[in-house]
Amino acid sequence: MKRPLIVQKFGGTSVGSVERIHNVAEHVIRAKNSGKQVVVVVSAMSGETNRLVELAKQVDKVPNVRELDVLLSAGEQISMALLSMTLCKLGYSAVSLTGGQARITTNNHHNNATISDIDTSVIDDHLAQDKIVIVAGFQGINEIGDITTLGRGGSDTTAVTLAGALNAEECQIFTDVDGVYSCDPRVVGAAKKLDTIDFPTMHAMAYKGAKVLHMPCVTYAWEHQVPLRVLSSFEAGNGTLVAGNDPQPGIGGLAIQKQMMALTIDTAHVDLVDKQKQMLGVEESLWVTDSAYNHLVVKLDCCDKLKMVIDDKIVVEQEVALLTLVGRQAIEQASQYQQLLNLSDISVLHFCEDKHSITLVLEPGTIDKAANVLHDNYIITSESVERAEKQVHLG
Ligand code: ADP
Ligand code: ASP
Ligand code: MG
Repeated sequence: MKRPLIVQKFGGTSVGSVERIHNVAEHVIRAKNSGKQVVVVVSAMSGETNRLVELAKQVDKVPNVRELDVLLSAGEQISMALLSMTLCKLGYSAVSLTGGQARITTNNHHNNATISDIDTSVIDDHLAQDKIVIVAGFQGINEIGDITTLGRGGSDTTAVTLAGALNAEECQIFTDVDGVYSCDPRVVGAAKKLDTIDFPTMHAMAYKGAKVLHMPCVTYAWEHQVPLRVLSSFEAGNGTLVAGNDPQPGIGGLAIQKQMMALTIDTAHVDLVDKQKQMLGVEESLWVTDSAYNHLVVKLDCCDKLKMVIDDKIVVEQEVALLTLVGRQAIEQASQYQQLLNLSDISVLHFCEDKHSITLVLEPGTIDKAANVLHDNYIITSESVERAEKQVHLG
């Protein structure tokens, strides 16, 4: 039996100003007044984490990882304290906790840590005193008590893991869009909002760059069957429920990943580079192979770190963007993508197949157009076919 408890997470834009924090407080109060216990997870105010990263880089292009975590965790602490003050001012009893105070333990992987355990006793004590508990997202402590952070976008993972540990009824991720779309709605205007999305499709989309949900958050929710919903902080609505273990047929969605770098590596050095990449903790990456060379595609912001070690093994480097089509039929249709994109003068640099997805490596300037072309052809068109078929059935 689930506990009458809701975890609500608010992202950077949602807590971007004191006025917006007031709006967040109203959401929280509504949940509390409905009779539920409420645990809130907050991100840093929008732009704050980037500002802190830039400050660190002014000191050192590749900053000390432990100290970077100390610095970045401060962003979420500002939001949690401001929200708690707002709730207190509005007459509600609230308390804010850092990741460490909330007893969120992680492994030792600074800047990209994984939660290993949450001891909920401190949170439970506060809840028992009828308080609203606010937890700083994106952070925990390792076994020696040092602050760690969970990787960019990690507050989603804090929220869902707390929801699992507390056996919450639902984990609600409030953000600046009103749900999960078939593609990033800021790039594809025709993208459609989904009422529900199954775990495998959502997982693949998050893995391939759809930042609406942090990938480990989806992994955790799927493994532990945590009811997960994405909603707007600014508009009323039911958002998108992430549920179901079987992917729908067809192409479920498109994911976009910008600001990536393709590093071309001579075949003789691939194993060594791969080991060095792992040792540096550069996990989110992709190997693409063609006849003579191997291309290691990594996030632009990992490049400085990586190049400190493998610079002499890089033959060419090129900024790229990735477009991934997710779904059971995504690979079958691969031969048509290049033809379609050619009509818009877009060439695909490389293709890379995964189990239920295919990634197109593109020049950065062509990604938005490519996403719109493929979305129009494979999502919109398949929808109209389905609709036409339904009409035929209905007679
Ligand atoms: P928050 O700060 O609330 O965590 P994020 O910026 O991390 O918000 O995630 C929300 C953003 O994700 C949206 O503004 C949107 O541009 C982007 N996004 C990417 N793919 C999708 C998608 N498939 N559906 C909805 N939003 C998406
Ligand atoms: N503040 C962190 C970031 O900007 C974590 C988060 O917002 O989820 O990546
Ligand atoms: Mg986010």
